Amino acid sequence: MVASINPIPVSLYVHLPWCEKKCPYCDFNSHEVKGPTDFESYIDCLILDLSNSLEDLNGRAVKSIFIGGGTPSLTPSALIDKLVCSIKSMVNWEKNLEITMEANPGSSEINKFKEFRNAGVTRLSIGVQSFNDHFLRSLGRIHSGVEARAAVNAANEVFDRVNIDLMYALPGQKISALKDDLDLAIGSGVGHISYYQLTIEPNTYFYKYTPKVPEDEVAYEMQELILSSMCQSGLSRYEVSAFCRNGEKCDHNMNYWEFGDYLGIGAGAHSKITQGSGIRRSVRLKHPDKYINAISLGKSAIQSSSEVKECDRPLEFFMNALRLVEGVDQNLFSERACISDRIIREQVDVAIKRGLLVNSRSRFQPTELGINFLNDLLEVFC
Ligand code: SF4
Repeated sequence: MVASINPIPVSLYVHLPWCEKKCPYCDFNSHEVKGPTDFESYIDCLILDLSNSLEDLNGRAVKSIFIGGGTPSLTPSALIDKLVCSIKSMVNWEKNLEITMEANPGSSEINKFKEFRNAGVTRLSIGVQSFNDHFLRSLGRIHSGVEARAAVNAANEVFDRVNIDLMYALPGQKISALKDDLDLAIGSGVGHISYYQLTIEPNTYFYKYTPKVPEDEVAYEMQELILSSMCQSGLSRYEVSAFCRNGEKCDHNMNYWEFGDYLGIGAGAHSKITQGSGIRRSVRLKHPDKYINAISLGKSAIQSSSEVKECDRPLEFFMNALRLVEGVDQNLFSERACISDRIIREQVDVAIKRGLLVNSRSRFQPTELGINFLNDLLEVFC
């Protein structure tokens, strides 16, 4: 066991679980709003939750805050202001603190963008998924392509940093339709794009009633087209699914991928906290009502908590670090996984011999083959 010399960087994740409608592919902890929702009580619980969890931060300055969901932009802006002010008054935070908030392209949310910025949000992440009405309908999304474009334009006017989430290999999607989405996404001028393949997850409507999605070869062709189009347009791929201009990487996600710590508050939020040479993962009560009840009654909102065993840490570390195109400094392994890197030397050599890992003395970096066949690379560390 190796106790880290440097304090592990820590981020804060805040979960707001409500959405206007549950999307059929979504396996996030999101709940449809049914009638009036008491956002204020929930925000008060988040603030209480954080104040009960301050010892997990151990005085460390928070490097980023991510307000995710769900659809956080459904929340009244005055409550986002209250939340951000309360967080900033309770914790130490780094200069240039990144505060990302997720938003959907509905018009009621667009009208609040300026207020969110005034509340301290520095980066907006919009769930566009596609600009095409047909595919948006097939994904069960409630916005249109026109609304998606309006939201991105409005966000670009208000925020210096904007991300859009997009999906490919959609039901019935052809290469030509993907090209149209790509042109609109790249042409929108945003500095960050996350492009995910639609995957069918258990416990979703699509898992039960699975739509016909493009064959693997077509999905692969689509991925190649995304990579080449992004590259030609000055958006560099820095993670398996993330592209940015001018080094506009997402600080919050970088902290996950570099195996930093994070404190998650809110219903179903996950945390990873390092103490000495131990790493503890925990998850809060998933259902918003149960979470609110526990916090309001002064009880613990933690549903489960466990230590990450030493034998599981190499895989956990590399599952994150090898998503990064440039990989990570080798010293990060012992620093963040809190174990000696001697125990992974053999596996590293195997991955290098198979052409999946770059032969380097200073970095753990996937080769192009390694990043495209990440599961094969990770199997080496199982
Ligand atoms: S809007 Fe996002 S979080 Fe909400 S149901 Fe759809 S995919 Fe899930």
